[in-house]
Amino acid sequence: MPVFCHPEFDAHEKVLFGHDPETGLKAIIALHNTSRGPALGGCRLWAYESDEAALTDVLRLSRGMTYKSALADLPFGGGKSVIIGDAETMKSEALFRAMGRLVESLGGRYRVAEDVGVTVADVEAMGQVTRYVAGIPAGGAGDPSPATAWGVFCGLKASVRHKFGSDDLNGVSVAVQGLGAVGRHLAAHLHAAGAKLVVADINERAVRQAVEAWDALAVAPSEIHAVEAEIFAPCALGAVLNEKTIPQLNCAVIAGSANNQLATLRDGAALKARGILYAPDYVLNAGGIVNISHETQLSGASYDKATAFAHVARIGDTLAEIYRLAERADLPTSEAADRLAEQRFKPAVRQAA
Ligand code: NAD
Repeated sequence: MPVFCHPEFDAHEKVLFGHDPETGLKAIIALHNTSRGPALGGCRLWAYESDEAALTDVLRLSRGMTYKSALADLPFGGGKSVIIGDAETMKSEALFRAMGRLVESLGGRYRVAEDVGVTVADVEAMGQVTRYVAGIPAGGAGDPSPATAWGVFCGLKASVRHKFGSDDLNGVSVAVQGLGAVGRHLAAHLHAAGAKLVVADINERAVRQAVEAWDALAVAPSEIHAVEAEIFAPCALGAVLNEKTIPQLNCAVIAGSANNQLATLRDGAALKARGILYAPDYVLNAGGIVNISHETQLSGASYDKATAFAHVARIGDTLAEIYRLAERADLPTSEAADRLAEQRFKPAVRQAA
């Protein structure tokens, strides 16, 4: 399995493979770039079809965290970890303690939080053997979804201001795809601001609640991306913006929380060609991690929600800067975001002795 010449390697500072025969732990921690500070990123537990698939995922995710933290102006670098296995069958406290020891072995260069397949309780189990954990109740921030939704709302308003010259959402129509932890908080903010909601979810109960609470119009999940609305807010799946869906879009702005919305880099250019303003997902959905950065374990100060949410709101300013750069350099907004991020971290740092 190639590591240094892996297509996703991209000058990672460190890739650590860990194994614990007693608990069955097979894990990889990837540190992409720590020039801004220790790497902060979640730990994913997933039944990868091969070790190589796990390596590809962790390299891609940890690089993404470098860009996300840089654009959110956090004193953190990019890192991520994966545990290879089936969340249904292999989870145990001992497994997460073994993972915690692996995190501890990096002496603080990596701070671990939850991700797909790993709960806050699992991170707390890691916390029994390492203090380098984040996103647990003891730190004060709690569930990241409300902060993520607040960041999406602020960024959506900045995008509307850029596109239409005013960020007044009264009477503006927004198609929300996915009414889960983030989507439903976002929909509540939009409704309170006077927006007209069109919604879809595969969960019928979530749709019913939205119709009742916010007078939303419900459409089929297969149609939501194509409905006529000023804004499309993808808050469910990745790769929703692709060569099939982009020609069907009927919106002027895309601003939602879902990760990896563009199926390929080319799709950013396709949106630009159609004159649709795309709010780059990793900029818009950084509210959760910004909130976590205010936790006691990471900031050293006690958590204050008002301060944390004011920091989250700055996502709107960052997007405005990205849009200006995109216009000046005639770039898709997705590429302008990457360029701006790359100005904010150094390509390589000397390893600590
Ligand atoms: P969630 O699982 O709580 O909600 C996802 C919702 O999407 C669910 O209600 C689900 O039923 C719905 N859904 C699934 N398939 C669908 C389809 N085909 N059409 C319409 N709806 C569908 O997840 P979440 O925490 O709300 O996160 C939403 C997205 O935002 C994910 O892509 C996630 O990676 C990203 N994100 C979340 C956070 C956070 O703080 N939770 C932070 C950053 C990014």
